[in-house]
Amino acid sequence: GAAGFYRETWADIHLDAAAENIRNMKKRLPEGVTLLAVVKANGYGHGAQQIARIALASGAKWLAVALFDEALALRKQGIQAPILVLSPIPPRHVALAAEHHISLTVSDREWVAQAEQLYGGKDPVNLHISCDTGMGRIGVRSKTDAQALVGEISKDSRFIIEGLFTHFATADQRDETYFTAQYARFEQMVDGFRELGVRPALIHCGNSATALKYPKEKRHLFTMVRYGIAMYGLSPSPEMAEQLPFPLKPVMRLSSRLTHVKRVEAGTHIGYGATYQAARDEWIGTVPIGYADGWLRGLGDTDVLIDGQRCRIVGRICMDQFMCRLPHHYPEGTVVTLIGSNGSETITADDRAEQLATINYEVTCTINPRIPRVYW
Ligand code: PLP
Repeated sequence: GAAGFYRETWADIHLDAAAENIRNMKKRLPEGVTLLAVVKANGYGHGAQQIARIALASGAKWLAVALFDEALALRKQGIQAPILVLSPIPPRHVALAAEHHISLTVSDREWVAQAEQLYGGKDPVNLHISCDTGMGRIGVRSKTDAQALVGEISKDSRFIIEGLFTHFATADQRDETYFTAQYARFEQMVDGFRELGVRPALIHCGNSATALKYPKEKRHLFTMVRYGIAMYGLSPSPEMAEQLPFPLKPVMRLSSRLTHVKRVEAGTHIGYGATYQAARDEWIGTVPIGYADGWLRGLGDTDVLIDGQRCRIVGRICMDQFMCRLPHHYPEGTVVTLIGSNGSETITADDRAEQLATINYEVTCTINPRIPRVYW
């Protein structure tokens, strides 16, 4: 059940589905490979705290977020598991990070020099060195950079190299050429760090796509995988959906209820711009979700599910509401399924992504906090 909310639109979050997606991945991982649950962006829109707790209860040992604030929020909520912040943060925050046992990502010597100077505490500052093997976002790029970085870190015994990692740009694509080059580059860089005496326990490169694709024997996943999108029951890409090693259970379902139902005469216009005109006498329902909720205007002219039937969205999607065409009268309060199954019909987050010409990640992340989450 939900904590109280009054609007007629909500997202059901099925934590048991997340648990299953995690357990299935756990089973697939080689002995000794740790599972890290990526819960950035409010758990890809599902709720960071709730997903973190179910992930930890289902076999994940680590958590990762994008922002330092996201890590601190989890600590405030009482989560004690190790947390890695995947993006660089300003060096002046290291004291707070150390105090809360939050591990940080580092890519350059200058950051370390500043952090060492600014930090007055005694607690260890745990660092994961990011390696840019082809993503071009953050990370060490050359042997010289690596040497300078390691040299700087080793000047101060409070600064600990806890991990080495990289991120793949194309792991979800069928063509493995670029992936293979990045993988080889990472192996080389890991060897380079070993030569510098850096042998951290945590070496990680696999996102969901990598971990789903490569079984134990084919490529080793080093010692930890960062499990994101597939934990939420979504495929890293449409092409991967056809060859998943286990079925992914979608965690989010999005629903609403008709708030207004009317019969309009042929010729009636609906919505901003009066872009839709009823061809005949029609039943029109109003649904209380709009682009301010992340239900974007690009979803106009797609279907929603009512009473097991597909019903067309008509007119432009407004900020807080949209209208749809009904086959006949339905009472106000009738459930409208926006993402999920209704009767024998289903509309997935992937369908919504296709309609919006984007990826499923963007669909769940943009269902914003105005929509209450109901946890099951
Ligand atoms: N690792 C890093 C550095 C990321 O930025 C992300 C997400 O974008 C992930 C892991 C998780 O990736 P995925 O959701 O594809 O599993």
